[in-house]
Amino acid sequence: MSAFPRSLLEFQHQFSDEAACAAYLAKQRWPEGFVCPSCGGKRGWALETKQWTTECADCGRQTSVRAGTVMHRGKLPLTVWFWAAYLMATHSNGISATQIRSQLGLGSYKTAWLLCAKLRSAMVAPDRTPLSGLVEMDETAIPFRTHDDPPAGGQGRSHQGKMLVAGAVEVTDGGPGCIRLRAIPDFSGDTLAGVVKDTVAPGSTIKTDRWTGYSASAEVAHDPHVIGSMAAHIALPWVHRVFSNLKTWALGVYHGLRRKHLQAYLDEFVFRFNRRRTRHAAFRSLLGIVTSKEPITYEMLIAPEAKG
Ligand SMILES: [Zn+2]
Repeated sequence: MSAFPRSLLEFQHQFSDEAACAAYLAKQRWPEGFVCPSCGGKRGWALETKQWTTECADCGRQTSVRAGTVMHRGKLPLTVWFWAAYLMATHSNGISATQIRSQLGLGSYKTAWLLCAKLRSAMVAPDRTPLSGLVEMDETAIPFRTHDDPPAGGQGRSHQGKMLVAGAVEVTDGGPGCIRLRAIPDFSGDTLAGVVKDTVAPGSTIKTDRWTGYSASAEVAHDPHVIGSMAAHIALPWVHRVFSNLKTWALGVYHGLRRKHLQAYLDEFVFRFNRRRTRHAAFRSLLGIVTSKEPITYEMLIAPEAKG
């Protein structure tokens, strides 16, 4: 796997033009050289009439380097896609369509918005594998806003103006591994047991600050540390740090979350967190790049230019 750039300058150098981006895509898909997705043939030639498209010498199928990626039907240059994905993958706080538009000099807000939406679609529910081993779990309430109001809510017992979130953090080697966040309607035992069922693998141990609620599952061991809310951050340091980062991020990036999109925001936060040390993986995920180790997608097979 080719090294991923560690800085803007390296990125600019590595992906300086369309040909460089196309070569990267080809290398990601065919590290050992071209393989026809239709017949498995290894001989092909680049078409002069269609950019970055290879025609199979055996069956005649034409395959674009964009096929099977998020860039497939886009009219935008590869360099624009690559820059947008790089900015989105490396900005720890995320980047808005307005920022993408101005930084990449795009003509319209709509173009920028569509570009961001397509890249961000990789972040929606990206992590379906359940957590395992030791898992810290807790719940929190975060303020949401409506229209241009300042964040509603505030301190107190009422959940009005707040959205409820359940969090789970895998603890490995004394530190946080992967996380999951789920928007929930209430803190009832049924709801929390449902979160455990969906996010934690059987055989795991969950660590919480409650006696009840999380203990409903027979397949997951429960290790409660009930020591009062003031000290919860000591018993459950990682899930509390995640909540703290989430709240800071929510206020900083979007000036407060909107309830309608809460789970999408949570998915984006989880995507960034779980790939915080693997920017290259984040970059590839955003562009929808399917490496040769993964199965060929249906999308790739039905791509129009693939019909030879
Ligand atoms: Zn072929």
